[in-house]
Amino acid sequence: IPIERYRNFCIVAHIDHGKSTLSDRLLEHTGTISAGDANKQVLDKLDVERERGITVKAQTCTMIYKNPKDGLDYLLHLVDTPGHVDFRAEVTRSYASCGGALLLVDASQGVQAQTVANFHLAFAEGLTLIPVVNKIDMASADVERALDQIERAFELEPSKALRVSAKTGLGIEKILPAVIEEIPHPVGDASKPLRMLLVDSWYDTFRGVICLVRVFDGQLKAGDKIVSFATGNQYTVGEVGIQYPNQVPQTLIRAGQVGYVFFNPGMKKIQDAKIGDTFTNLGCENVVEPYPGFEEPKPMVFVAAFPTDQSNYTKLSDSIGQLVLNDRSVTLQKDSSDALGAGWRLGFLGSLHCSVFQDRLRQEHGADVIITEPSVPTKIVYSDGEEDIITNPAQFPEYDHHRLRSATLYEPVVKATIALPEDYYGRVIEILEATRGTNEGVEFFGNQVIMKYEIPAASLVDDLFGKLKGATKGYATLDYEDAGWRESDLVKMNLLVNKEPVDAIARIVHRSQAVRLGRAWVVKFKEHVSRQMFEVVIQAQAGRQIVARETLKPFRKDVLAKLHASDISRRRKLLEKQKEGRKRLRAVGNVVIEQESFQKFLSK
Ligand code: GDP
Ligand code: MG
Repeated sequence: IPIERYRNFCIVAHIDHGKSTLSDRLLEHTGTISAGDANKQVLDKLDVERERGITVKAQTCTMIYKNPKDGLDYLLHLVDTPGHVDFRAEVTRSYASCGGALLLVDASQGVQAQTVANFHLAFAEGLTLIPVVNKIDMASADVERALDQIERAFELEPSKALRVSAKTGLGIEKILPAVIEEIPHPVGDASKPLRMLLVDSWYDTFRGVICLVRVFDGQLKAGDKIVSFATGNQYTVGEVGIQYPNQVPQTLIRAGQVGYVFFNPGMKKIQDAKIGDTFTNLGCENVVEPYPGFEEPKPMVFVAAFPTDQSNYTKLSDSIGQLVLNDRSVTLQKDSSDALGAGWRLGFLGSLHCSVFQDRLRQEHGADVIITEPSVPTKIVYSDGEEDIITNPAQFPEYDHHRLRSATLYEPVVKATIALPEDYYGRVIEILEATRGTNEGVEFFGNQVIMKYEIPAASLVDDLFGKLKGATKGYATLDYEDAGWRESDLVKMNLLVNKEPVDAIARIVHRSQAVRLGRAWVVKFKEHVSRQMFEVVIQAQAGRQIVARETLKPFRKDVLAKLHASDISRRRKLLEKQKEGRKRLRAVGNVVIEQESFQKFLSK
């Protein structure tokens, strides 16, 4: 099949608008999978994707379609894109590998936040868009409203829109002819040196890292020696092929195609497969232009994880390693806490990415792992111009440090797109203002409102989305993209237990939140910590100021308070004894705290 009869396309949609269902239908329609195949949602490969109903990784499937108009076979690549905002780099790369997209809108929901955000990305990549209104079978479908929104929000011609039901298959047959008609075929020269974009990658136990690639120029076959522009690493191609829908080896893949490749010897670390990296033939580094815009993934949300029992360290280490093996965007560092022992600090692209990872870790380890509250980084710019980005609140400089006094603090902000029915507009404005957000524009489409706000990234880890859902009976949708740093009046919060800071609980917050958070901390901590033999004072400190305090009364007569210095050894013995009695105890200063209390405190 010549390149003129290739089409590479993807589906631009808000989550749940039917992307996976429509993909399945198209694969059935072309006989790529059989109808009624038990293996539904073919493109959602990872279990977690099926469970949470989101696509985490880009996938692709090749179809061969006989166009009824000219009777010729076409080679169609459907590239599925991650359904969540945290994976924007992946989404952009997937779009970059396509010539066009179906802009899918649920007729009962209309245009939503991710429809808007993904539309802008697709538009920026120059994709040809075909509007498709889905779920027309539903009683609540309002096709005219959806078409009106598509026209007003995206300036797409509503008469060109296709009306389908991915569920029943109604109208499906019109989609592929429209793809062939409207979407331009890829251009590329198979006789030139290789120029190939890495779109996605995943780890396979037997073959090592498998890369999903889009070949722009040249061709690729087993035995070829190629080189990465981003890392300079050289590889020998082990196998190339297409996903049809499973991996089907080919003698070669060439300009215009989307396929998979793995190497021999295999690429060992998923971190070496950098999304957006360009590969070329060894020796052609100087004649081939790499694909522009490559960026290293930038972690925005951090947590620390600790084994409940240090004897589980190795086991937990192995499984974190396994999880990281399949997710190149997680960053991993060793960490240690006075209160919780040895553990790890993990960085994620965003809060959903973080929560997916946490879920998997908890599924595997249940009560055996303690995960601290997610936090965002802080940038410190000192008066001499030196900059420091802090991802662990424990590393925040001491307040008496003279350099800190003249330093300026910055927090990360995102540009958020929020869609909601007009009725909830007032409530949503209140919530967004409370996040210290700045309004950047509001548009009304019938009864649907689309708002743009610049908000601190910290509000996302503070469950902004949950709050929005709560205030709108679940109707609000949210999307966001990184918008750099904003100067902010930040302060480091410590939880003190008998004057000793609990390092695992430290956070950096906006000063306006300090008192509220401090109160919440001390009350909650008191609830979860058992009484001791002596009085325990729990305090929240913001900067150098104590903002909240609770006292935990001793459970019996305050013996320890009466002890003199000479009785220290007796006091130790008491603590020792208490330690032996129960497993999993932790000491903060002189206070012994059950590991379980930390866990309860840290779980929402
Ligand atoms: P994705 O998140 O965009 O991949 O959405 P899915 O394909 O997973 O679909 C989300 C939900 O909508 C699923 O429960 C589907 O069964 C349902 N759905 C998808 N298309 C249709 C449709 O045309 N009609 C109806 N009634 N439901 C649909
Ligand atoms: Mg899906």
